[in-house]
Amino acid sequence: MAYAVKDYKTEVWVDWCPGCGDFGILNAIHQALAALQLPPHRVAVFSGIGCSGKTPHYIGTYGVHTLHGRVLPVATGFKLAHPEMTVIAVGGDGDGYGIGAGYFLAAGRRNVDLTYIVYNNGVYGLTKGQASPTLPKGVQTKSLPEPNLMEALNPIAVALGAGYTFIARGYAYDVRHLRDLIVAAIQHRGTALIDVLQPCPTYNNIYTREYYNARVYKLEETGYDPVVHNPADEKEIVEKKAQALLKAYENGDRIPIGIFYRVERPTLEDELATRLPHWGKALADLEPIYQRDLTP
Ligand code: SF4
Repeated sequence: MAYAVKDYKTEVWVDWCPGCGDFGILNAIHQALAALQLPPHRVAVFSGIGCSGKTPHYIGTYGVHTLHGRVLPVATGFKLAHPEMTVIAVGGDGDGYGIGAGYFLAAGRRNVDLTYIVYNNGVYGLTKGQASPTLPKGVQTKSLPEPNLMEALNPIAVALGAGYTFIARGYAYDVRHLRDLIVAAIQHRGTALIDVLQPCPTYNNIYTREYYNARVYKLEETGYDPVVHNPADEKEIVEKKAQALLKAYENGDRIPIGIFYRVERPTLEDELATRLPHWGKALADLEPIYQRDLTP
């Protein structure tokens, strides 16, 4: 059976504000699942709290709407119990880089095989537009009474330090490019982060569609090579991280999107199977069950 984009949609009304970047991200996820021909019952989508938290309601796979900032530990636990499933975690920048910052770091260190997509709009949209951890200091959106007091966090830089093995940035209004990033992230074995520039037209009048349209460019079109070709070579890893770090801080007239860094490393599942043979055996015993064709 071939799956079409419509097979990953639901009948739930999508109630994001008109023009919200979330629509582009949702479309890209639908299209990526169809491109990979993943059976819907083999995919689970988890979300935190925020506008992005509604995403699992709009995707016709298994889905769980978790707690604020807690999407990564829930998705991690699910993946360890169900390694046969494709796991996608989604959340906003406030949810993931603020409330759930500790989990964001731990996920990079663990390297469980899952994809984490962050809807990054610089504000807490669901609660009327307070400054999020990615809003630069001194910037005043229309939802703030005063310019932002705190320095912004750079998600790409933090992910490099935390050990993420696939780090990318997408743009919500370049759906085809974002779809390709999501496909690559799902195919990557390990924890993949895609930070998505996602305009919030309701509360953020600074980082708008027009702002990003005038600035974003694709790393892959410049000859940039994000891949660590010899994962055993620590020197190459450091060099590739340094290269990615420079790109992460390129945030003026030109803003790069694409894959910043990619390396193949053992996943937490690999480590557990090696060190806890009974864990690996238990999963192997379950394999015939997982392989059953449950296509309706
Ligand atoms: Fe989108 Fe902002 Fe509206 Fe939330 S508040 S749905 S992020 S436009």
